[in-house]
Amino acid sequence: MASIPSPIHPDNLKAVNKIAELSGQNVHECMQCGTCSAVCPMVGSMGFTTRMGIHYLQFGEIEPVIKAQIGEYCASCHTCVVRCPRGIDVPRVFEAVRQLVLRTNTDLIKPQEIPKETMAEAPQIAFVSTFRKLTS
Ligand code: SF4
Ligand code: SF4
Repeated sequence: MASIPSPIHPDNLKAVNKIAELSGQNVHECMQCGTCSAVCPMVGSMGFTTRMGIHYLQFGEIEPVIKAQIGEYCASCHTCVVRCPRGIDVPRVFEAVRQLVLRTNTDLIKPQEIPKETMAEAPQIAFVSTFRKLTS
């Protein structure tokens, strides 16, 4: 029997496997129902919906997910985890994408670019958690 060609470009397969290794999740189990997007409190801030993020990853497309900053905006509230009919831990998947970015020594926030007013008014704990999450 002839083999079925994979829809994933060989260059992208490595990254997809890395995300599976880091997250312990199989994005190919997602059936694109959209429930995670419907319940996500942060979806309005992301570049596109969580469902779309998983869809891109199913095809090994990591760059659009990085650009959409889903990993940064995800609040790890786990609402989508308890609602996903396929039992996928969505925030772990996006956390893996964020980790791949940080492993390239890329800082996702530049302290010198934070407005002085924000520095004066924002609670210290916000800075601590932000730097922990967004700097390599
Ligand atoms: S864990 Fe992240 S992706 Fe899932 S609902 Fe909460 S904010 Fe949205
Ligand atoms: S809720 Fe689960 S199955 Fe539905 S789109 Fe989101 S990740 Fe996929």
